[in-house]
Amino acid sequence: MAELSTAEIAFRLFVAGVAMVGPTLLFLGFWRFLMWLRDDRLIDVMVARGVLDEQPAPSAADVLATATASHPGARRCPFCEKQNLPGVRQCRGCGERL
Ligand SMILES: [Zn+2]
Repeated sequence: MAELSTAEIAFRLFVAGVAMVGPTLLFLGFWRFLMWLRDDRLIDVMVARGVLDEQPAPSAADVLATATASHPGARRCPFCEKQNLPGVRQCRGCGERL
């Protein structure tokens, strides 16, 4: 096995460091890019127009509720007016019993 010079060992350590730290830095950079893309002012305008709820956090239950909004068994919460899926016992908007 050939002897490694100090420069070769330093280069290999540098490559190993880049391989370990690089993906993390790329992920954090991508995260910051997504935060930069997020348009809070657009969301505020849509909330003011009533297009969005106050907190735009669509869950699987929200998507399902939207798809089944005209379902005959769907129930509207008397406390918060949120549309709930048929058969649920607790409001997904405010947590009150239905
Ligand atoms: Zn409710």
